[in-house]
Amino acid sequence: MKYCSRCVQPDTRPGIEFDKRGVCGACLYYEEMDKIDWNSRRKELDEIAKWAKKTTKSVYDCAIGISGGKDSTFQAIFSRDTLGLRPLLVNCEPENITEVGRRNIENLKNLGFDVISMRPNPVIMKKLVKRDFYKYLNPIKITEYPLGASTAIIANALKIPLIIQGENPTFTLGTSNLELRKHGGDAMFNNMKPTVSSGLKEYIDEGIDPKDLFLYGYDREKMIKDGFKGVFLQYYLREWSQVHNAEFSSKYGFRGRPEYFNPSDIGTYSPYFQLDSDLVQLNQMLKYLKFGFGQCTDHACYEVRDGRMTRAQALELVRRYDGKCSIRYIKEFCDYIDITVDEFWKVVDKFVNKDLFKKDKDGKWIPKFEVGVDTADSKKK
Ligand SMILES: [Zn+2]
Repeated sequence: MKYCSRCVQPDTRPGIEFDKRGVCGACLYYEEMDKIDWNSRRKELDEIAKWAKKTTKSVYDCAIGISGGKDSTFQAIFSRDTLGLRPLLVNCEPENITEVGRRNIENLKNLGFDVISMRPNPVIMKKLVKRDFYKYLNPIKITEYPLGASTAIIANALKIPLIIQGENPTFTLGTSNLELRKHGGDAMFNNMKPTVSSGLKEYIDEGIDPKDLFLYGYDREKMIKDGFKGVFLQYYLREWSQVHNAEFSSKYGFRGRPEYFNPSDIGTYSPYFQLDSDLVQLNQMLKYLKFGFGQCTDHACYEVRDGRMTRAQALELVRRYDGKCSIRYIKEFCDYIDITVDEFWKVVDKFVNKDLFKKDKDGKWIPKFEVGVDTADSKKK
């Protein structure tokens, strides 16, 4: 394993790129940020907003997918109050929604928005989550499809010309596909979860009725041809950052985790991320066992790049919290997909990266690597 020389990003993240100096793609983007002409980007965004108001055949100018988190709260308020758009918010309800997640969604609605809530058939969803857990050790894989698709489906149906998304993961996670970077603001081009023909094929091949996956995909090519636009706000706004969005949204009633949360329960010190479903906390622990990093790494990386934390402080937090997950979440998940905790660990054992982890005498997986220290045989599985 090899770590970025500036932040604490490891080279085991799928798709990550490092330059010759050992700097990761996300840090390189931060370097680029100082050279960007933000005024002209902001003008570009105003033009797009003007275009949406002129073009729309709906009462709404834009559609925004929301979870109630800090980013979506900022997106909704900014689009309405600064860009002067009339947004329709689309909320795709997660499985096992948390109390704080539910509260934040209600808060956002009460700031004065029309909201469409949708939920894909929970029986089918559960079946697919269980299938992906066994097949990839990734219980959230399938849940990401309706999150992306629901907004596009509604925009398409109601003829709302513009879809506003928040963060472009190509930038902030540091995967440096040049073609994607060139189209950095264009969400249609970049990452909105795609058509039934690609990602969803494996489920259909296994006998899932495509009609049951209606809310999981949309015809992106056709929407592009029909003139729909999707944008990432992050691309246009210098001020976009995790802390900015959390502070901004807090003023509008958004809340993070309660003050008494235990970082070791969720595998990170930050109270502002992934609030709406506990499935994510579990998935971060599984990610850690597959790739050697969890969500504390992601959060600490943001802070190092924003200059709010030193690399040494970040490493300390990562050592302490990465990969931790309360037994409560594990039990909840086992109940949800109807397996025992023993069975859960049997499945996990198969997928653990044995180059990175070994079992201690109690049968617990412990890292062979030291966080922040490069190892010679540094290639991903
Ligand atoms: Zn980096």
